[in-house]
Amino acid sequence: MFEDLRELYQEVIFDHNRNPRNFRVMDDADRKVEGFNPLCGDRLTLYLKMDGEKIIDASFQGSGCAISTASVSLMTEIVKGKTETEADALFKTFHEMTTGKDEQINLEAVGKLAVLAGVREYPARVKCATLAWHTLDAALKNQHESISTE
Ligand code: ZN
Repeated sequence: MFEDLRELYQEVIFDHNRNPRNFRVMDDADRKVEGFNPLCGDRLTLYLKMDGEKIIDASFQGSGCAISTASVSLMTEIVKGKTETEADALFKTFHEMTTGKDEQINLEAVGKLAVLAGVREYPARVKCATLAWHTLDAALKNQHESISTE
């Protein structure tokens, strides 16, 4: 990865960690799932507002490390307006990007999420980045209980 690209990615992560987007309780949420990553101590509650198959609003609350906060902040921005199928496809692409062995990352498919591609070099941080997505996956499957990455 080019150095300036890496710096730009770090800036985006810092920015989302300092000013998380959609950081609020959603009182009229249709789906609410808690996610926990015991490895790092990241905790979040994800809220979704649905219109049929479509995610019309997403928000979260919780506390965690910079990577987990940036990841869930970016995710709530990106899944808004997506259908369940589209969000599921993004989850798979993101999972592949952060855990896969492929050198090539399809930047067009992941968009802004590419800023988190660097975690694949730090296996201990992968779960911080994927916690938000595992929680989203549970919410889309309409599971109400909390999920844990362990
Ligand atoms: Zn973490």
